[in-house]
Amino acid sequence: MEQPFYIVYDRLYTTNYITASVEKPERVRQIMSSLGKTYPIVKPDPCTDEDILRCHSEGLLFMEKQDPERYEIAKLSAGGALKAATMSMENKPCFAVIRPPGHHANPDHNWGFCYFNNMGITLKHLIAKGIITRAIVLDIDLHFGDGTDTIFKSNANVPVLNIQASNPVDFINETKSRLESCDHADILGISAGFDQYIKDWGANLSTPDYFTLGEISGSFAKKRCNGHIFAILEGGYYIPDLGKNAIALIEGILKGLYD
Ligand SMILES: [Zn+2]
Repeated sequence: MEQPFYIVYDRLYTTNYITASVEKPERVRQIMSSLGKTYPIVKPDPCTDEDILRCHSEGLLFMEKQDPERYEIAKLSAGGALKAATMSMENKPCFAVIRPPGHHANPDHNWGFCYFNNMGITLKHLIAKGIITRAIVLDIDLHFGDGTDTIFKSNANVPVLNIQASNPVDFINETKSRLESCDHADILGISAGFDQYIKDWGANLSTPDYFTLGEISGSFAKKRCNGHIFAILEGGYYIPDLGKNAIALIEGILKGLYD
Protein backbone atom coordinates (compact mmCIF):
# COMPACT_ATOMS: atom_id res chain seq x y z
CA MET A 1 0.00 0.00 0.00
CA GLU A 2 1.23 3.45 -0.89
CA GLN A 3 2.33 5.50 2.13
CA PRO A 4 2.20 9.16 1.16
CA PHE A 5 3.81 11.69 3.47
CA TYR A 6 4.71 15.31 2.83
CA ILE A 7 6.96 17.97 4.30
CA VAL A 8 5.85 21.60 4.35
CA TYR A 9 8.82 23.96 4.23
CA ASP A 10 10.03 27.28 2.87
CA ARG A 11 13.59 28.62 2.82
CA LEU A 12 12.31 31.81 4.44
CA TYR A 13 12.02 29.80 7.68
CA THR A 14 15.81 30.12 7.91
CA THR A 15 15.53 33.91 8.22
CA ASN A 16 17.49 35.11 11.23
CA TYR A 17 14.77 37.39 12.66
CA ILE A 18 15.76 36.72 16.27
CA THR A 19 19.40 36.99 17.23
CA ALA A 20 21.27 35.72 20.28
CA SER A 21 18.57 33.11 20.83
CA VAL A 22 18.52 29.33 21.03
CA GLU A 23 15.65 29.47 18.54
CA LYS A 24 18.08 29.47 15.60
CA PRO A 25 17.60 29.04 11.84
CA GLU A 26 19.89 25.98 12.10
CA ARG A 27 17.01 24.13 13.77
CA VAL A 28 14.98 23.85 10.57
CA ARG A 29 18.08 23.62 8.38
CA GLN A 30 19.28 20.57 10.30
CA ILE A 31 15.88 18.85 10.05
CA MET A 32 15.68 19.50 6.31
CA SER A 33 19.18 18.19 5.62
CA SER A 34 18.44 15.05 7.68
CA LEU A 35 15.22 14.47 5.74
CA GLY A 36 17.02 14.82 2.41
CA LYS A 37 14.74 13.82 -0.45
CA THR A 38 12.82 11.14 1.43
CA TYR A 39 9.46 12.94 1.23
CA PRO A 40 8.07 15.48 -1.26
CA ILE A 41 8.38 19.09 -0.09
CA VAL A 42 5.42 21.43 -0.40
CA LYS A 43 5.65 25.23 -0.12
CA PRO A 44 3.25 27.15 2.10
CA ASP A 45 1.44 30.45 1.60
CA PRO A 46 1.29 33.00 4.41
CA CYS A 47 -1.88 33.11 6.48
CA THR A 48 -3.98 36.28 6.39
CA ASP A 49 -4.69 38.92 9.03
CA GLU A 50 -8.25 37.56 9.08
CA ASP A 51 -6.83 34.15 10.04
CA ILE A 52 -4.71 35.74 12.80
CA LEU A 53 -7.65 37.67 14.22
CA ARG A 54 -9.62 34.45 14.83
CA CYS A 55 -7.04 33.73 17.58
CA HIS A 56 -5.43 37.03 18.47
CA SER A 57 -6.41 40.55 19.46
CA GLU A 58 -6.10 43.60 17.18
CA GLY A 59 -3.53 44.87 19.68
CA LEU A 60 -1.26 41.86 19.35
CA LEU A 61 -1.50 41.96 15.55
CA PHE A 62 -0.64 45.68 15.56
CA MET A 63 2.34 45.03 17.83
CA GLU A 64 3.68 42.27 15.57
CA LYS A 65 3.38 44.47 12.50
CA GLN A 66 5.97 46.80 14.05
CA ASP A 67 8.62 44.21 13.11
CA PRO A 68 7.77 43.71 9.41
CA GLU A 69 10.38 41.01 8.70
CA ARG A 70 9.37 38.86 11.65
CA TYR A 71 5.68 39.50 10.96
CA GLU A 72 6.06 38.07 7.44
CA ILE A 73 7.87 34.95 8.65
CA ALA A 74 5.37 34.41 11.47
CA LYS A 75 2.50 34.60 8.93
CA LEU A 76 4.33 32.09 6.73
CA SER A 77 4.84 29.81 9.73
CA ALA A 78 1.11 29.78 10.51
CA GLY A 79 0.50 29.34 6.78
CA GLY A 80 2.79 26.30 6.84
CA ALA A 81 0.74 24.73 9.63
CA LEU A 82 -2.43 25.50 7.69
CA LYS A 83 -0.99 23.90 4.55
CA ALA A 84 -0.08 20.74 6.47
CA ALA A 85 -3.53 20.46 8.04
CA THR A 86 -5.32 21.13 4.76
CA MET A 87 -3.31 18.44 2.98
CA SER A 88 -3.89 15.97 5.79
CA MET A 89 -7.64 16.42 5.24
CA GLU A 90 -6.97 15.12 1.69
CA ASN A 91 -5.30 12.04 3.20
CA LYS A 92 -1.83 13.47 2.69
CA PRO A 93 -0.29 13.41 6.16
CA CYS A 94 2.28 16.15 6.67
CA PHE A 95 4.99 17.47 8.91
CA ALA A 96 5.43 21.26 8.79
CA VAL A 97 9.08 22.17 9.43
CA ILE A 98 8.29 25.73 10.47
CA ARG A 99 9.63 28.50 12.65
CA PRO A 100 8.81 30.57 14.60
CA PRO A 101 6.94 28.11 16.84
CA GLY A 102 3.48 29.06 18.10
CA HIS A 103 2.16 27.27 21.17
CA HIS A 104 3.06 30.08 23.62
CA ALA A 105 1.18 32.68 21.55
CA ASN A 106 -1.94 33.65 23.54
CA PRO A 107 -4.85 35.80 22.30
CA ASP A 108 -3.29 39.07 23.53
CA HIS A 109 0.30 38.26 24.52
CA ASN A 110 3.09 35.99 23.36
CA TRP A 111 6.40 34.68 24.66
CA GLY A 112 8.83 31.75 24.37
CA PHE A 113 9.94 32.51 20.77
CA CYS A 114 6.28 32.39 19.65
CA TYR A 115 4.41 35.23 17.86
CA PHE A 116 1.23 33.79 16.34
CA ASN A 117 -0.40 30.54 17.42
CA ASN A 118 0.19 28.34 14.38
CA MET A 119 -2.00 25.47 15.60
CA GLY A 120 -4.82 27.75 16.74
CA ILE A 121 -4.87 29.77 13.52
CA THR A 122 -4.91 26.54 11.50
CA LEU A 123 -7.77 24.81 13.30
CA LYS A 124 -9.90 27.96 13.55
CA HIS A 125 -9.44 28.53 9.82
CA LEU A 126 -10.59 24.98 9.01
CA ILE A 127 -13.57 25.33 11.37
CA ALA A 128 -14.54 28.74 9.92
CA LYS A 129 -14.42 27.33 6.39
CA GLY A 130 -16.60 24.37 7.38
CA ILE A 131 -13.83 21.87 6.58
CA ILE A 132 -13.79 20.42 10.10
CA THR A 133 -16.00 20.66 13.16
CA ARG A 134 -13.91 18.77 15.70
CA ALA A 135 -10.14 18.51 16.21
CA ILE A 136 -7.72 17.11 18.77
CA VAL A 137 -4.41 18.78 19.62
CA LEU A 138 -1.60 16.64 21.05
CA ASP A 139 1.25 18.79 22.44
CA ILE A 140 4.42 16.80 23.22
CA ASP A 141 6.71 19.80 23.77
CA LEU A 142 8.56 20.05 27.07
CA HIS A 143 6.71 23.27 27.89
CA PHE A 144 2.98 23.56 28.54
CA GLY A 145 1.37 25.02 25.42
CA ASP A 146 -0.42 27.80 27.27
CA GLY A 147 -1.40 29.73 24.13
CA THR A 148 -3.16 26.83 22.42
CA ASP A 149 -4.73 25.79 25.71
CA THR A 150 -6.15 29.28 26.29
CA ILE A 151 -7.43 29.62 22.72
CA PHE A 152 -9.46 26.39 22.90
CA LYS A 153 -10.21 26.22 26.63
CA SER A 154 -13.91 26.94 26.23
CA ASN A 155 -14.30 24.91 23.03
CA ALA A 156 -15.43 21.33 23.75
CA ASN A 157 -14.85 20.48 20.08
CA VAL A 158 -11.10 21.03 20.33
CA PRO A 159 -9.56 19.16 23.27
CA VAL A 160 -5.93 20.18 23.79
CA LEU A 161 -3.79 17.43 25.34
CA ASN A 162 -0.58 18.73 26.87
CA ILE A 163 1.55 15.74 27.90
CA GLN A 164 3.78 16.69 30.83
CA ALA A 165 5.10 13.41 32.31
CA SER A 166 8.72 13.46 33.43
CA ASN A 167 9.73 9.90 32.50
CA PRO A 168 9.34 8.06 29.18
CA VAL A 169 7.04 5.28 30.39
CA ASP A 170 4.57 7.72 31.95
CA PHE A 171 4.87 10.04 28.93
CA ILE A 172 3.91 7.30 26.49
CA ASN A 173 1.18 5.88 28.72
CA GLU A 174 -0.30 9.32 29.33
CA THR A 175 -0.31 10.06 25.59
CA LYS A 176 -2.08 6.78 24.91
CA SER A 177 -4.69 7.12 27.65
CA ARG A 178 -5.50 10.77 27.01
CA LEU A 179 -5.96 10.13 23.29
CA GLU A 180 -8.10 7.07 24.04
CA SER A 181 -10.35 9.23 26.23
CA CYS A 182 -11.17 11.46 23.22
CA ASP A 183 -14.14 10.92 20.93
CA HIS A 184 -13.90 10.85 17.15
CA ALA A 185 -12.60 14.03 15.52
CA ASP A 186 -12.01 15.25 11.98
CA ILE A 187 -8.28 15.74 12.48
CA LEU A 188 -5.39 15.18 14.89
CA GLY A 189 -2.75 17.92 15.06
CA ILE A 190 0.53 17.30 16.86
CA SER A 191 2.43 20.23 18.35
CA ALA A 192 5.79 18.52 17.93
CA GLY A 193 8.37 19.99 20.25
CA PHE A 194 11.54 17.95 20.67
CA ASP A 195 12.84 19.61 23.85
CA GLN A 196 11.76 16.59 25.94
CA TYR A 197 14.66 14.78 24.24
CA ILE A 198 17.23 13.12 26.49
CA LYS A 199 20.03 15.48 25.34
CA ASP A 200 17.78 18.57 25.33
CA TRP A 201 16.39 20.60 28.28
CA GLY A 202 13.84 17.96 29.29
CA ALA A 203 16.40 15.12 29.53
CA ASN A 204 13.55 12.66 29.13
CA LEU A 205 12.59 11.02 25.80
CA SER A 206 14.81 8.93 23.50
CA THR A 207 14.65 8.81 19.70
CA PRO A 208 12.72 5.47 19.79
CA ASP A 209 10.23 7.17 22.15
CA TYR A 210 9.45 9.69 19.39
CA PHE A 211 8.80 6.76 17.05
CA THR A 212 6.40 5.27 19.62
CA LEU A 213 4.60 8.61 20.09
CA GLY A 214 4.22 8.85 16.30
CA GLU A 215 2.89 5.31 16.09
CA ILE A 216 0.33 5.89 18.87
CA SER A 217 -0.80 9.09 17.13
CA GLY A 218 -0.96 7.54 13.67
CA SER A 219 -2.98 4.55 14.81
CA PHE A 220 -5.32 6.80 16.81
CA ALA A 221 -5.81 9.01 13.73
CA LYS A 222 -6.57 5.94 11.62
CA LYS A 223 -9.12 4.71 14.15
CA ARG A 224 -10.85 7.95 15.18
CA CYS A 225 -9.88 10.77 12.77
CA ASN A 226 -10.34 9.13 9.35
CA GLY A 227 -6.55 9.02 9.03
CA HIS A 228 -6.28 12.82 9.09
CA ILE A 229 -3.07 13.71 10.94
CA PHE A 230 -0.44 16.43 10.73
CA ALA A 231 2.44 17.63 12.89
CA ILE A 232 4.05 21.04 13.24
CA LEU A 233 7.39 21.94 14.75
CA GLU A 234 7.32 23.73 18.11
CA GLY A 235 10.44 23.68 20.36
CA GLY A 236 13.58 21.53 20.38
CA TYR A 237 17.03 23.02 20.84
CA TYR A 238 19.55 20.18 20.73
CA ILE A 239 20.19 20.84 17.06
CA PRO A 240 22.37 17.82 16.07
CA ASP A 241 19.55 15.32 16.76
CA LEU A 242 16.46 17.32 15.75
CA GLY A 243 16.36 15.68 12.32
CA LYS A 244 16.62 12.13 13.59
CA ASN A 245 13.89 12.73 16.15
CA ALA A 246 11.62 14.30 13.52
CA ILE A 247 12.23 11.29 11.25
CA ALA A 248 11.45 8.90 14.12
CA LEU A 249 8.14 10.70 14.74
CA ILE A 250 7.26 10.65 11.02
CA GLU A 251 8.12 6.95 10.61
CA GLY A 252 6.07 6.17 13.70
CA ILE A 253 3.09 8.09 12.29
CA LEU A 254 3.39 6.13 9.04
CA LYS A 255 3.54 2.80 10.87
CA GLY A 256 0.49 3.70 12.96
CA LEU A 257 -1.45 4.92 9.93
CA TYR A 258 -0.69 2.17 7.45
CA ASP A 259 0.35 -1.03 9.25
ZN1 LIG B 1 9.39 23.99 24.50
